Amino acid sequence: MAASTTRLWHPFSNMAAVAGCEFVVERGDGVWLWTEDGSRFLDGTGSLWYSNVGHGRVEIADAVRAQLLELDAFNIFNDFANRPALELAERLSGLAPIDDARVFLATGGGDGVETAAKLARRFWALRGEPARTHLIGRSLAFHGAHGFGTSIGGIEANREDVEPLAGDVSHVPYDSLEALGAELQRLGPERVAAVFVEPVIGAGGVLHPPTGYLEGVAGLCAESGCLLVLDEVICAFGRLGHWFAAERFGLNPDMIIFAKGVTSGYQPLGGVIVSGEIAEPFWSGEGNYFRSGQTYAGHPACCAAALVNLAIIEREDLLARSRELELALARALEPLSAHPLVGEIRAGLGLMAAVELSPQAVAGGTSVAAVFEAVREAGVLLRPLGTCLGISPPLTISEQEIELIPQAIESALDRATQSI
Ligand code: PMP
Repeated sequence: MAASTTRLWHPFSNMAAVAGCEFVVERGDGVWLWTEDGSRFLDGTGSLWYSNVGHGRVEIADAVRAQLLELDAFNIFNDFANRPALELAERLSGLAPIDDARVFLATGGGDGVETAAKLARRFWALRGEPARTHLIGRSLAFHGAHGFGTSIGGIEANREDVEPLAGDVSHVPYDSLEALGAELQRLGPERVAAVFVEPVIGAGGVLHPPTGYLEGVAGLCAESGCLLVLDEVICAFGRLGHWFAAERFGLNPDMIIFAKGVTSGYQPLGGVIVSGEIAEPFWSGEGNYFRSGQTYAGHPACCAAALVNLAIIEREDLLARSRELELALARALEPLSAHPLVGEIRAGLGLMAAVELSPQAVAGGTSVAAVFEAVREAGVLLRPLGTCLGISPPLTISEQEIELIPQAIESALDRATQSI
């Protein structure tokens, strides 16, 4: 084995390829990032879909610093609380299209998924329907890398060699209402605890829901009595032009899982917003414990970052800005569809998009990894997702900066064409 040049094991990465070739990012400002050697890159993905307000926001850094100096951390188990956590719960419950909402804070999206899965099952047990244990996920969905999330997620490669995972989980094709209806019938609706849905599938390749699909899922959940859990880890806080994607589709889910854009990544934070009905057996009468939660749930510095981040989104009207930019991004990418190596462009629903290589390009030996690399050499950071490149810049990007994305992709594709 060659001597390792790094001790850092990167997530979702092939260390045999990465070790020794690390791309070390040093500084960020707005939509721009600089590496240690001083080169500048456009952040075309808001890192991992989270930098909604862009990099280098001094007021968030100041709020975190002030909070750490006031109270670094103290847990929120039992009756302990801190003011930023209380304020954030208040703020999120007011923003979410969920009746009488309560907010369960955690440290990231995956924690939120685990919480929602356990809470769904325990809710039904406490409601006297203990047979409702089954969780339904969708093909190509991503719900984080924890146990339940890996099980419910529909990207099969993520389950390779780590099964058996959670029991009583099944998957339906992401775009078929009929398949979901049939699965509910097959299982017997009285056995289903919850259906997990990403409004727009992110990591699976920016896959839009067919028209009417999400509303149809909500209808099927209501009919069969099971819970609708929206995984809005990517879609919330402006990515789809609203605080929550649920608003865009007129949905009132039972739970919304959130993370990423809640702090724009300045601090790690995620969680679940839960309806009053789900909270009821835990919050009323004698109450019941929900024996779950993370050490750093409600971390005051993370909540302080979130509060300032949400204030920036509101003050700068970034929800409306995102709705304008989704069209600008779709328009800017459109000409690429004529390129012989491009199969499909998925854009126009939120400030997120994917440029998919054509089957012929893939069959002919063009790899997404190579195109990603060439786009990076052209000064833009995108994300390789299966056979496509994912795009999800900060909501603060300008239309001129958006133009740099298709330019970099085009020059990368042209180079790929020449090298075949
Ligand atoms: N759900 C979705 C839809 C996600 O995209 C992700 C992360 N990309 C997660 C859950 C997991 O979030 P985290 O990495 O913060 O655990």
